[in-house]
Amino acid sequence: MFDQPLASRIRCINKPDTNGSGDCVVYVMSRDQRVDDNHALIAAQKHAIEKSLPLIVTFCLYQSTGHRTKEQYEFMLQGLGVVEKELKDKNIVFHLIVGKSSQELGSFFEESKPSVVFFDFNPLSGPRTLLDSLVESNPDIPMYVVDTHNMIPCWVASDKKEFSAATFRPKVHKYFGEYLIAPDDIVKHPHDFKGKTSSIRSQQKDIDAILDKLVSTGISYDFKPGEHAARKKLADFIHNKLEVYAHDRNDPTKDALSGLSPYLHFGQLSSLRVALELQAVVNGAGASLHLLESKKMPQANSFSNKKVASAAVLLEEMIVRKELSDNFCYYKDDYLLVSGAHDWAQETIREHDADKREHQYSKEELQNAETHDEAWNAAQRQMTSTGKIHGYMRMYWAKKVKEWTPDAQTAVDILVELNDKYHLDGGDPNGYVGIMWSVCGVHDRPWTEREVFGKIRYMNYSGLKRKFDIETYIKLHKNSK
Ligand SMILES: Cc1cc2nc3c(=O)[nH]c(=O)nc-3n(C[C@H](O)[C@H](O)[C@H](O)COP(=O)(O)OP(=O)(O)OC[C@H]3O[C@@H](n4cnc5c(N)ncnc54)[C@H](O)[C@@H]3O)c2cc1C
Repeated sequence: MFDQPLASRIRCINKPDTNGSGDCVVYVMSRDQRVDDNHALIAAQKHAIEKSLPLIVTFCLYQSTGHRTKEQYEFMLQGLGVVEKELKDKNIVFHLIVGKSSQELGSFFEESKPSVVFFDFNPLSGPRTLLDSLVESNPDIPMYVVDTHNMIPCWVASDKKEFSAATFRPKVHKYFGEYLIAPDDIVKHPHDFKGKTSSIRSQQKDIDAILDKLVSTGISYDFKPGEHAARKKLADFIHNKLEVYAHDRNDPTKDALSGLSPYLHFGQLSSLRVALELQAVVNGAGASLHLLESKKMPQANSFSNKKVASAAVLLEEMIVRKELSDNFCYYKDDYLLVSGAHDWAQETIREHDADKREHQYSKEELQNAETHDEAWNAAQRQMTSTGKIHGYMRMYWAKKVKEWTPDAQTAVDILVELNDKYHLDGGDPNGYVGIMWSVCGVHDRPWTEREVFGKIRYMNYSGLKRKFDIETYIKLHKNSK
């Protein structure tokens, strides 16, 4: 039913659709909260049209079991409001379920009798456990997972846990050209759904009950929610900052980053769309088009054109690094444990976990930015006031927590809690791998051995001073909350 490369994004997780009976097609939206460029929605609609069935998109809102907060849920819900409206214009019903996902989705399948259910892909353990339980309790419904988060589907890019970016990069280069294709548009759906569904508005009371139970940080995020705002952010970035991105991205005193991570995290924007827009810039500049055609990503230093050089750097971050994070979480169940690290890293952690720490801070002291290190405090304040530490400072922020807490696993646990609680883009494989890289050397190599860090890469204040004007950065965040 599906042509390549769409077919390779889709995985059957139980039995194929052979009998074709059922009253509708359901797409359970979860990680990819958008209508445009959503291959799970495209696949579900193609299937529904072929079977002459109505299409329902459902989203299950449940009480957070992790560290996510009220403000982050509000951002997500406003984005879902945009999804609901866009779907309505396409004659597709959006059905919001509030409650425990496995039970509520199971009951919904019983009522709506889907011929087929599509899910979007998430490598993290919670969503995967949910899929396992749905497969087990609904043996007669064919179910498919569609990877529309990664530009190259996780299972196509690699069939194993990659050792490092160096081993993953050639695989990305190999498939890049094949997947750099604009997805089909969603059409006005030709079949009406006549059953009962719940809109966001009709579920407001239950939504409020969930929001009331969540922790609030009081952060007013400077990001407009929703897929239109995401596209605007991308266009603004390409127009205003792409030229300086390659040169200035590691300077936290400059505003040179894309700011796309919250949109990519909530799936309000796809990396494929970013790549397509970058391709247009690259094509416009002429010189590098042949590199993309020959399925090689351009290297930053091969270009005199600054925008093209920046496009190359951004693709390295957003495709190679980001999709390597999904690869790690997908193929390693212990993606947040010291046992998930390379053997050399586990060994050095064992040898140095008990080393005496010169400074030690509790989670509360860290949360309140009460350390002796003003650069670290500034990063922490940047996070608690804006919801996003600059990418370069995130590494320093995490490395120091390793240095100041009793052992590596405690550092990982504290970092995950703070990262997910304050960062709008938290709760993401990128964050988990960023933390595991900083504390446990994931995807890295051994460095010169030293106290506490062992052979894990170390960062210090002098290093920051050499890279950028650290005093300015500290001043910028001195009075933040
Ligand atoms: C300790 C630590 C924690 C992190 N926590 C998160 C997190 O919770 N969520 C998150 O999305 N990223 C996280 N990162 C990765 C990176 O810091 C952020 O993606 C980046 O700072 C987001 O800002 P931006 O979109 O403006 O970045 P840009 O530089 O404009 O990058 C564009 C996109 O590329 C991807 N990207 C950039 N850097 C990396 C990287 N190092 N690894 C993987 N992908 C990358 C992101 O999707 C990002 O949105 C973390 C890194 C570290 C070291």
